[in-house]
Amino acid sequence: MSLLREAERCLANQHAHNLNAFITPLSRSGQWLDRVKEADQRSEKGTPKSAVDGRLISIKDNICTRQLPTTCGSGILDKFTSPFNATVVEQLEGAGAVIAGKTNLDEFGMGSHSVHSRFGPVKNIRRDSAGHEISAGGSSGGSAVAVAAEQCYAALGTDTGGSVRLPAAYTGTVGFKPSYGLISRWGVVAYANSLDTVGILGTNTSSVRDIFAILNHHDPRDPTSLSKSSRSRILSQLQTSPLSTRLISKPLRIGVPLEYNISELTPSVRTSWLLSLAHLQKQGHTIHPVSLPTTKHALSAYYVLAPAEASSNLAKYDGVRYGTRGDGPDGNGQPEGVLYSNTRGTGFGAEVQRRILLGTFSLSADSMDNYFIQAQRVRRLVQRDFNAVFSAQHPLFDARGRSDEAAAEAEVDVIVCPTAPSSPPRASDLSSGSKSPLDAYVNDVFTVPASLAGLPAISVPVTVAEPGRDSGVDAGTDGLAGIQVVGQYGDDELVMSVGELLA
Ligand code: GLN
Repeated sequence: MSLLREAERCLANQHAHNLNAFITPLSRSGQWLDRVKEADQRSEKGTPKSAVDGRLISIKDNICTRQLPTTCGSGILDKFTSPFNATVVEQLEGAGAVIAGKTNLDEFGMGSHSVHSRFGPVKNIRRDSAGHEISAGGSSGGSAVAVAAEQCYAALGTDTGGSVRLPAAYTGTVGFKPSYGLISRWGVVAYANSLDTVGILGTNTSSVRDIFAILNHHDPRDPTSLSKSSRSRILSQLQTSPLSTRLISKPLRIGVPLEYNISELTPSVRTSWLLSLAHLQKQGHTIHPVSLPTTKHALSAYYVLAPAEASSNLAKYDGVRYGTRGDGPDGNGQPEGVLYSNTRGTGFGAEVQRRILLGTFSLSADSMDNYFIQAQRVRRLVQRDFNAVFSAQHPLFDARGRSDEAAAEAEVDVIVCPTAPSSPPRASDLSSGSKSPLDAYVNDVFTVPASLAGLPAISVPVTVAEPGRDSGVDAGTDGLAGIQVVGQYGDDELVMSVGELLA
């Protein structure tokens, strides 16, 4: 199919399905059509700019674009357009890609079901086997649904604690979160800087890999972007590792974290996990139980650290410098603070206000030691757990202190586990108010450990047949689960390759 026909089909799908995946969809006409036609000509001549030349890529609406508004799904930025493009947007456009619109999200990335948006919830294109609407996952639910509904070729999301991987698992798409610091965050609206990453959603691993190759470069404008010298050090360390990172030529040692086998796993998720492991074993790889003992504290640590950073990051939305302004001092003796509280009280949604309060509390003098500092300690322990089980050393950490015995026991190349403990909840349960915020936080239990440790992770869809159905038949979402592959820092290619073996 020509690139133009492919783009027109995506555009038609954007207008045909009312899934609310976009806050700003692609316009029906515009310069982008000429750019796709030019890409078609290059493709005919055999000289495409890149693998995504002329392809439509959606951008989550917390990533800045000069041409289109960037709202973060928030009332406080509902009329904001950035004067510049994020580095990732520049990189994609430089490679010939066309921006397919800005996708809906949980406000500022805070949520797990894409329901906390000023622009209304995102709807999943899939339903459960009883025909009920289900959660699209979040916070990059708009990007995931846009990919699943073929409204674009691929999409960018952001993943702070699982926001690319969880919606990928719930929509049957592939979602990749790279090692922290590999993809530039310049122009990406911060939620929790020390955890934020830009992630990629696609229908298959190879499109995700192509986009990663375009974005995986040092950016001098992002102070947390990994330097060129560290990148080449990691590369040479990986090249001397016994594994070929792209084509897996040797049997891999696959780690199965025992602590992830919790009683709350729904049967279809457990079955998908087991089948995935059996599938890898059949291909000659070996399975090894590993222990990540701090996992059980990771979720609580995340929900202290992320709101703490968020409360600081969101302080700048005061109605003076950015976005929408609430009623302010009227010259009749109203104090200055009224402007701030009106702006923030009406501009931010309930979940964002909850996180700001939580974060402000845990950073306050009286609770700092009990919450924030403790959570930082847990984060270190989570990192240490991972380092103790991966055979590759963390390229940025000092290897001293790792005894020979510890290194010998550190035995696995990647970890394979479910992306989420259960199938997507029904949309009606989310809107009825019967669920507490904590119910949503629990969905992140398997995704936050890799975020706290800054490790690469991919979620790939695995479908199991329901009893009574032939194997391989799409069993509806009840039989669909996301399986996650997590690797050592910098082992992004290996993680994608194992994802490819599973999908
Ligand atoms: N659900 C998590 C949260 O609300 C993760 C969000 C994300 O990764 N942006 O913090």
